[in-house]
Amino acid sequence: MKCSIKKKTYRAIYRLLDRVSPVPYDCGQLCGAACCTCAEDQPEDDPQMGIYLLPGEEKLFTKKEDWLHWTVEDAADYDFPDSWFGKLYFVTCLNAPKCPREKRPLQCRFFPLTPHLDHDGRLRLIFSDLELPYTCPLISENVKLTPEFIQATYTVWKHLIRDQLIYDLVEYDSSFRNEAELEYIR
Ligand code: SF4
Ligand code: SF4
Repeated sequence: MKCSIKKKTYRAIYRLLDRVSPVPYDCGQLCGAACCTCAEDQPEDDPQMGIYLLPGEEKLFTKKEDWLHWTVEDAADYDFPDSWFGKLYFVTCLNAPKCPREKRPLQCRFFPLTPHLDHDGRLRLIFSDLELPYTCPLISENVKLTPEFIQATYTVWKHLIRDQLIYDLVEYDSSFRNEAELEYIR
């Protein structure tokens, strides 16, 4: 899929998010790094849990990283907006929870936050509402996240949604939510 976000912009986004963490301690200690290790027992050739890369994000990888398993899927086979068609890259980690931290994909960096477009079209951040096979204590205990993490994540999404495909994705995901039930983190 053709994305307007350039490789150097993705690099800058990675660098910005490298400087922040959701909480000022290793939250993996709370849960055994559940968000990293939940995919551990799945077959390598048919992973059901993976991290999808945003369109164009794959340019930051060689696809030969020995800590990642890659699959290339057709976006139309998954729950994405209609504008998403063509190749989509999924990765699963072969050595979780260990990975080169500065290389981890964006989906890992945003979690536990996710973007939402409210009825006025304003960008918001909420806790991830994905159905997951584990419980994230930061979400279940409504832990206060660091202002730096919230701000950096917001800034990045503000930029990312200038791309039409990424905007479509956020709008599509937002359309399934009941705003009356949402608690905005930002
Ligand atoms: S983000 Fe949540 S699930 Fe992931 S390591 Fe931290 S507390 Fe655990
Ligand atoms: S890339 Fe790193 S942070 Fe992301 S799921 Fe894999 S081990 Fe966890």
